[in-house]
Formats: sequence, structure tokens, C-alpha cells
Amino acid sequence: MSGDPRDRYAVAIIGGGIVGLFTALHLARAGAGPIAVFERGFLSSGASGRNGGGVRQQWETSATVKLAREAVVAWRRFPKEFGYNPYFRQGGYLFLAESDAELAQLDRVAAIVRSSGLPIQRLPADRVAHYAPGLALRTLRGGSFLGSDGTLYPFPAIWGVYEELRRLGVEVFLRTPVLGISRGEGADLRLALERSTVVAPKVVNAAGGWSGEVSRLAGLEVQNVASRHEILATEPMKPFLDPMLIRLSDGLYLSQTMRGELVGGLTVSHPTGTMTGMPSSLEFLRRMGRAVVELFPNLRGLNVLRAWAGYYDDTPDGMPVIGEDPRLPGFFHANGFGGHGFMLSPASTVRVAKSVLGEGTDLDPALFGPGRFLGPARSGSVERLQPG
Ligand SMILES: Cc1cc2nc3c(=O)[nH]c(=O)nc-3n(C[C@H](O)[C@H](O)[C@H](O)COP(=O)(O)OP(=O)(O)OC[C@H]3O[C@@H](n4cnc5c(N)ncnc54)[C@H](O)[C@@H]3O)c2cc1C
Repeated sequence: MSGDPRDRYAVAIIGGGIVGLFTALHLARAGAGPIAVFERGFLSSGASGRNGGGVRQQWETSATVKLAREAVVAWRRFPKEFGYNPYFRQGGYLFLAESDAELAQLDRVAAIVRSSGLPIQRLPADRVAHYAPGLALRTLRGGSFLGSDGTLYPFPAIWGVYEELRRLGVEVFLRTPVLGISRGEGADLRLALERSTVVAPKVVNAAGGWSGEVSRLAGLEVQNVASRHEILATEPMKPFLDPMLIRLSDGLYLSQTMRGELVGGLTVSHPTGTMTGMPSSLEFLRRMGRAVVELFPNLRGLNVLRAWAGYYDDTPDGMPVIGEDPRLPGFFHANGFGGHGFMLSPASTVRVAKSVLGEGTDLDPALFGPGRFLGPARSGSVERLQPG
């Protein structure tokens, strides 16, 4: 959108990724008053325009399964609701385990997912290839499969929400970085932009991999850490892979798009923190190439067409941060979504909006609240099923 921002909004949202946009949508539908979204780049320039489009309900925490189930319903409804079709294809998610520890993790996940009423299957090794023809992983010990998981195209989802925001009168300012955040008069927070200042009593930090930087602009120390993740797409080939495939040992994920391309990545450790640009590395291409051929020997020689990278916004316990910061009333977190913020966004942002509106949410503050990091340090992660 063009034009200058007003002096004052009811809610100002920092970050024009899927989390910021959906949050604005729920607030606008609730009649929250004038809302602005400030995005320093172009629409979807962050992780929302760079991800693998995976949508799963297999999690190790029942609170996350609940959000994921709700999100799946929302993604199915999306084309009717928004008039844009992200082509959510429910071909399932197939997890691959190669050790006793990984089998035990899948057992824990299956118990939690089953107890929420979803028909997850734990598969012996010889049944796994049924869902992934051509799979030849000699070290395979077993897997799990849930048919209502799937994949979508992120861009139509972003455009659908964006167009609806425009219709509702939400002001989305692109190429408009927020440079400073301070206390204004009374209950207001003041946002410094390049050429002006705006005030709002409620500010939402939906800055994805940059959410730590944005919190620090407001003088808040947080534990979010940005990590760079790479992904690639191959030339198209005849459809053969319905589910999203995840290998637990190296975090490899791989799916086939409707155009026939294979899209996927795996975890390569890079120094943490955001940097200028989002480069791809030869190491990633080499490791990913080897891993894919190990899984599917028939794919040797397949060409990679594109590779790109983006930032996860990680937290120490693998759970997102949703809610008002107790140190700065009016400042709300909607961040820390790791590699899973897109799939959960229709459901997680309903809670962000409720918390901004001062309506209670069903989220356990010990799992999701920003205050959980302010007490004595806790050890270990809560949500450990991080790959894909
Ligand atoms: C390679 C890769 C694969 C992934 N695969 C999946 C997947 O299969 N499924 C899934 O659900 N998720 C996946 N994810 C994660 C998912 O993409 C993110 O969790 C999600 O997009 C986060 O959305 P967001 O709106 O919070 O952040 P973003 O989309 O990153 O948006 C944040 C925005 O804030 C803006 N911003 C930052 N600082 C400022 C500032 N000071 N002022 C104004 N604007 C600012 C940025 O420019 C950015 O556009 C993947 C991520 C990557 C990188």
C-alpha cells in the first residue's frame, strides 16, 4: 500500500509475513480499530515466502497437535474463504526412523496424536515403502504416517490474506522498517519509522527471524535465535511421492509438488543470527544430493533447478512465544515459530489476536507465554519433533 501512515493506530504489527498478516486479519474481523502492518521488505520476503509448505499434525506436545488440527481445518477452508487456492494437498506425512531412539520418539508422538483422535499409523520398515515407492533406505527401522497431513503453496495463502486485509481497510506498509520502539504518553508505545513516528497502545512483534532484534529495539532481552535453513527444488518428474517425507536423523524433508518438482531440505549448521542476504551453500547441495540419492537411488542424475534459504526463529524449548510481555505492557509476541510457523499460522494467530484484545486464550502460559523465559533457566526442549 502507498501513502503515509497515520499518527496513531489501535494496533501496530511489525512484520508482514503470514503471522503478521493473519494476526491483522483476526483483529480486523473483531473490529479492533485502525490497524497497521509494517514490513521492511516486500510481502513474504521473510520465511513465509521461502518455506517448504509442509502442514503436519504429528507433534510431541498435545497443545501443538491441537493448534495443528485447527490449522488443517482452516487450510481446507481457505480457497472458499479467501478466493485464493493454496492447493492444500493431503498426501500425508511419512516419518522415517533409523534407530531405537527414533522409534521410541515416533511411539511417543503416535500416542499423543492418537489420543487426540487422529488415525496415525506406526509402520514397520517393510510397510514404509508402500507410501514412498522406490524408497531404498537400508538403515530404515520403521516409520509413522498420518494421511490428513500435507503440503500447500505458501504464496496464494499470503496473497489471499493480504487482499482480504486491503478489503477490510487494514493498512499494510511495505518497505517500511520499524527502527525504534519506546514508551509514549500514557499507555502508548511509539514506533520510529524512517520519516515519521506512529503511536499505538498495542504493538505485535511478528518479525520472524528478526523478532529478537525487534524485541531488543524495545529494550527487551529475549532468547529467540535466528538460524539459516536452506531448501532446493529439482526439475519436474513423473508424480511418484504423495506424502511429505521426513528423516529424523538429519532433518531431511522432501515432497513432490503438483508440477512434479521435488522440494526439500535438511539441517546444515550455520552460525546463528541473521545476516545480509540469504545465501545458499555448496555444502547443502552436496549433502542434500547425497541424502536424496541414498533414499531414492533412481533419482541419481536429477537436476537441481533452484536453491534458496531463509531464517527460522528458534526458541530454547521449541515452542512459539505468544502473548503480552510482562515487562512492557502493550508489547505482544507472535514469534518463535521455528520451522513450523506457516502451517500453524491460521490457528496460532487467533490466539495472538485474542491476547491483544485482552480476551483469554486456551494456551498454557508455561508452554507459550513470554514469561516462561524470565524465571530460572529450564533445561531441554518441550517440543522435540523439530524436523520438517
Ligand atoms: C527453508 C525453510 C523451510 C520451511 N519449511 C516450513 C514448512 O514446511 N512448513 C511450515 O509451516 N513452516 C516452514 N518454515 C517456517 C515458516 O516459513 C516460518 O515459521 C513462518 O513463515 C514464519 O512467519 P512469520 O510471519 O513469523 O515470519 P516471516 O515470514 O519471516 O516474516 C517476518 C517479517 O518481518 C519483517 N521484519 C523484520 N524486521 C522488521 C522491522 N524492524 N520492521 C518491519 N518489518 C520487519 C521481515 O522482513 C519479514 O518479512 C520454513 C522456513 C524456512 C526458512
